[in-house]
Amino acid sequence: TIYLDYAATTPVDPEVVRAMANYLSGDGVFANPASEHAPGQQAAEALAVARLRVAALVGAEPGEIVFTSGATEANNLAIAGAARWRRRHGRGQRIVTVRTEHKSVLETCTALAAEGFAVSYLDVGADGRLDPAALDAVLDDDTALVSVMHVNNETGVVQDLAALATRVKAVGALLHVDAVQSIGGEPLDVRALPVDLVSLSAHKLYGPKGVGALYIRQRPRVRLCPLLHGGGQEAGLRPGTVPVHQAVGMGVACELAAQRRASDALWLKGLHQRLRESLAALGGVVLNGREDGAAHILNVSFVGIQGETLAYELQAADLAVASGSACTAALSNRAPSHVLQAMGRPAALAHAAVRFSLGRSITGHEIDTAVERIRCRLQSLRRFSPLWRD
Ligand code: PMP
Repeated sequence: TIYLDYAATTPVDPEVVRAMANYLSGDGVFANPASEHAPGQQAAEALAVARLRVAALVGAEPGEIVFTSGATEANNLAIAGAARWRRRHGRGQRIVTVRTEHKSVLETCTALAAEGFAVSYLDVGADGRLDPAALDAVLDDDTALVSVMHVNNETGVVQDLAALATRVKAVGALLHVDAVQSIGGEPLDVRALPVDLVSLSAHKLYGPKGVGALYIRQRPRVRLCPLLHGGGQEAGLRPGTVPVHQAVGMGVACELAAQRRASDALWLKGLHQRLRESLAALGGVVLNGREDGAAHILNVSFVGIQGETLAYELQAADLAVASGSACTAALSNRAPSHVLQAMGRPAALAHAAVRFSLGRSITGHEIDTAVERIRCRLQSLRRFSPLWRD
């Protein structure tokens, strides 16, 4: 199978697997990092190294990183944790976010609205970008938090975080960024960007599923109410025995990502261009997103067909792509993507969308083979489509 779904998840790098194995069983260090005995201290040291590596990826200090079970939890902790703390201390009760955010952000906001928080959802343009000026209309003294993603997981659209951050800081609100898909391109650096909270996930970075991290700025100190209550691990913000092997895996994955960033970016850019140009040559292909989007994601609509039908047919041709987003798990959910709807795509075009996402080990030859398989299926699907005329 040619796998073109790296935005859904990536394979775990063999180096990451080896590092994790050392912290799982009797041959290695399996102890609880909170234990005072020697094996416990060895586990604690490994955890400290992992924390350092994750922090380095975004230019943070290790004390600003809390390990979580993934970005879904990091997003929940950032948004609910900050909103509840701020409201409790009279620092606002409005949350501002964008209609194209990941569901783990949008659903957290829905839950908080039920707790009485005021939530504002901002619209994007047809190109998926949030106009920084649109923030001005909703930001006020009552705004506790603004949550905007860096790179959209369905379209690869990159938001202008610097312009947004200036506005958020001007009213004294916190800025949370879901940076899960900020890979293979412009890195997010918390020293350069006045962002307060950043969510990360290991499994989009050739690390394991089930581990992520939340960056929490310490200068000035950002305060959160924890979601869980327990033994005080992770500065009390994420209690529970820390899964050292998972953290170690994420640490190594982050280090490899930093080392390979430049060469990955170059490689992905070439693949992206090759794929975009050969798909465009098929005719009736509409780009969903912007040409200056993240190199690893390409979302297009094939006029006259259903993206789901094409993805299903391609599966039979040993080509794995995504229609809609794998992050929205319900297969029974036949509604078109909320991201494409927010971009104002007509229903027929939104239903015709397919997301291709690229990774480190894909070759140019695989891209050519993939496009050839798409060309064949597309031709036969369009032959019977009442919506397609050559
Ligand atoms: N945010 C974005 C932008 C994502 O792409 C994903 C993964 N689908 C998540 C959050 C959730 O990450 P995790 O799978 O680690 O919970």
